[in-house]
Amino acid sequence: MKTCLVVDDSKVIRKVARHILETLDFEVREACDGREALDSCLAAAPDVILLDWNMPVMSGMDFLLALKESEVASKPKVVFCTTESGMAYIRAAIEAGADEYVMKPFDRDTLESKLQIVGMA
Ligand SMILES: [Mg+2]
Repeated sequence: MKTCLVVDDSKVIRKVARHILETLDFEVREACDGREALDSCLAAAPDVILLDWNMPVMSGMDFLLALKESEVASKPKVVFCTTESGMAYIRAAIEAGADEYVMKPFDRDTLESKLQIVGMA
């Protein structure tokens, strides 16, 4: 079973993402900011990370940069989540190491196709 770490400061988004990912047979872990996500990755690297951009404590971008510098053994695939108004961030996120992006709000089919693109579904 593949593991997905859902990183978002919104409890509602985490819940929706968890539900979709569980129907896609993922084992799901959650983190509410980049700092918690980094700790989680250092404890055990997930196969893929669904990453929000705007979060308190440590943003999605800061997390990406910290992950790159970290001792996390196997580099997880990263699918970056953004809203339409955050389109400008996509290029920066890809440059910082994200593998793919998904627009919020996403549904099961959209998320599944993005996970397929990164070889995870
Ligand atoms: Mg957020």
